[in-house]
Amino acid sequence: MKTSIIAVGTELLFGQTVNTNAAFLSDKLNHMGFDVMYHFVVGDNPARLKDKLAEAFSDTDLVILTGGLGPTQDDLTKEMVAEYMGRDMYLDEAVMQQLSEFFEKRGRKMAENNVKQAYLPEGCTPFYNASGTAPGFALSADGKTAICLPGPPREMKWLWENGVKDYLEQFMDKKMFYRVIRTIGIGESDLETILMPVIDGQSDPTVATYAKEGECTLRVASQRDTIDEAKEAVREMTERINDLAGDFIYSYDDEDLKEVVVRILKEKGLTITSAESCTGGMFASAITDVAGASEVLSSAYVTYSNESKIKELDVPAELIDRFGVVSSQVAEAMAEGARARSGADIAVAVTGYAGPEADPGHEAGEAYIGYATADRSGYHEVMTSRNNRKWNRNYILLRMLRTVYLLIR
Ligand code: AMP
Ligand code: MG
Repeated sequence: MKTSIIAVGTELLFGQTVNTNAAFLSDKLNHMGFDVMYHFVVGDNPARLKDKLAEAFSDTDLVILTGGLGPTQDDLTKEMVAEYMGRDMYLDEAVMQQLSEFFEKRGRKMAENNVKQAYLPEGCTPFYNASGTAPGFALSADGKTAICLPGPPREMKWLWENGVKDYLEQFMDKKMFYRVIRTIGIGESDLETILMPVIDGQSDPTVATYAKEGECTLRVASQRDTIDEAKEAVREMTERINDLAGDFIYSYDDEDLKEVVVRILKEKGLTITSAESCTGGMFASAITDVAGASEVLSSAYVTYSNESKIKELDVPAELIDRFGVVSSQVAEAMAEGARARSGADIAVAVTGYAGPEADPGHEAGEAYIGYATADRSGYHEVMTSRNNRKWNRNYILLRMLRTVYLLIR
C-alpha cells in the first residue's frame, strides 16, 4: 500500500528537533510491507498542512501524521484532518475520563485547553494513549486512511506498539518476511556487481544493498500469501547470495560484528586480548559492550607511546627503529607480546595514524592490524585514504573485529 508520512511542527523546520518520528515509522512500515513513498515536514500552519494532506493523498492511500495533537492553539493536525475528510468532532468520553484521571493522579488541575484533546473526529478509530494525554486515531474516507499520532517520540512509539500496528494489519493482504544480511570487506558497488545475477530482474524476493560506515548491508525481502512462503523465498535467495558473496558475510540476522565475534569466541571457548595504539582502547570497549564479554576478554593493553609498546608488550626497540612504529612488523610484535603476556588464545593489535596528521612518508588512515594465535601470526594492512580522525578510528576498529572474525569463523 502506498504510504506517506507527514511530520507536523515548526520546530522540525527550524532544525531544533530532528524528525526521528518519520525514520521510526518508515522503518516499521517498510518492514510490514507498506511502500513509503514520501516524507513531508510542515510547520504548524493550517493552510500548508491542508495542502500537504491533499498532495499526500493524491498519490498515496495511507497517510500517517505525527505532531500537532497537543492541547495548545498551534496544535491543529486533528482539526485539519477532520476537515479534510469532512467530519465533525465529538467529545470522546473515554479520553475525557482518562484525562481527568491523568491529572488527578498527579494532583494537578486540568487546564481548560486540555479538554481540546478529548475531541476526536466522528467515525474515527481512536488509539487511546496510556503514555501521555493526546490520543491518536485513524480516519478513513473513500478508500483513503489518515492516522494521526502525537509528536513526542515516546508516545508515538507507544501508540504504534499498542494499537496502530495491529490496526494496519487489515491493509496487508500479503505477508512480509525479510532478513538483513551484513557484510564487511567489500564496497557497495562491488557487492552489487557480485550479486547482479540475483538482483537483476528480481521482483520477489527483493535484494537491496545499503552502504553503512565501513560495511555493507543487504536486505532480502519477500511478500507472499503466507508467512511460510515468504520465509521460504527468503531462505532460497539467502542461499544463492551465500554462494556468491559468502566470504564477506558475517551475519544473516543483522547482528553487529562485535556481537558475532563475542558469540563465536564464547562458542569456541576462546579468550582474546588486544593491544591498541591509535584506537586507544576502542576494541576492548567494543568487546565489553557485548553482554558476557568477561568470558572472552582476558585483558587489554593501551600502549600509545613507543616506550609502553616496548615495556608492556616486549616489542623490540630495534624493530621500531628499523621499520617505524606504524608498521606491520610492530603490529605483529605487539600482538605476539600481548598474547604472551596475557595468556589469551588470540591477540589482536593495532598501530596506525588516526589522522588528520601523519608522519612524513605516511598517510592518515594508514594502520596495521597484527594478530597472533597459538599456531600463527600475521597482519592486515588498512589504508583509508581519509584524514577524518573519527572515521578512521571507527573504521580501523571494524577492521580489527574483522581480523578476529576471519581467525575464528
Ligand atoms: P506536538 O505533538 O506537536 O505537540 O509535539 C510535541 C513534541 O514532540 C515536540 O516539541 C517535539 O519535541 C517532539 N516531536 C514532534 N514531532 C516530532 C518528530 N517528527 N520527530 C521527533 N520528535 C518530534
Ligand atoms: Mg507541535
